[in-house]
Amino acid sequence: MTKLFAIYGASGCGRSLMPVARQQLTREKSMFEIVFIDDALTEFDVVNGHRAMNYSAFLNESASEKYVQIAIANSRVRQKIANRLELDGIQLWSICADNVILMDEVKIAEGSALSPFVTITSNIKIGKCFHANLYSYVEHDCVIGDFVTFAPGVKCNGNIHIHDHAYIGTGAMIKQGTPDQPLVIGKGAIIGMGAVVTKSVPAGVTVVGNPARIVTKK
Ligand code: UDP
Repeated sequence: MTKLFAIYGASGCGRSLMPVARQQLTREKSMFEIVFIDDALTEFDVVNGHRAMNYSAFLNESASEKYVQIAIANSRVRQKIANRLELDGIQLWSICADNVILMDEVKIAEGSALSPFVTITSNIKIGKCFHANLYSYVEHDCVIGDFVTFAPGVKCNGNIHIHDHAYIGTGAMIKQGTPDQPLVIGKGAIIGMGAVVTKSVPAGVTVVGNPARIVTKK
């Protein structure tokens, strides 16, 4: 029996990551099939040339090993699905585009998705199910938690610590910290598209603008 690979989520994120996944397996020269899993499906379908099915149908597929990349931007949903996969003994699958640059001493936990043109420089630690979308970069000495999401073009400079579930919007840039005083993006914080973050952001808040400020509820 063969290995079965899946992209979980057949919406925007999943359909953009499928070619990255395909490229990776071609590079590894393994025999493979990659399917989409999407719980909105009630019956088998074909999406962009790949078989697509819901999670229970995927569980019924016969394969010696199953690997899943959770390609859903919402980090809470990623966590919920990751927990379910763990209970079902299915492995998280990391995917990485051909032209991604990874420098020295980069440690990335399982389930990551590194899109085309991403650069991760040196001495960086990243948690589970990290998503770095097109053209994002992470500079030296950053520490990134679990289920963190970078939209396209995020500029994450050196000595920045980003806690679990933070979401960094398209084109946001974050000022570098120092080894003694890293700039910290708190747990679950949301950084708006194009924000220029010049100081630490508390957990759970949303910041926008230049310089980025907390959005207060009216
Ligand atoms: N989805 C799913 N199971 C879940 C939650 C979401 O299969 O428990 C699917 C959902 O049906 C949708 C996709 O994941 O097709 C999420 O797509 P969305 O457009 O919300 O965002 P994206 O992450 O693709 O930008």
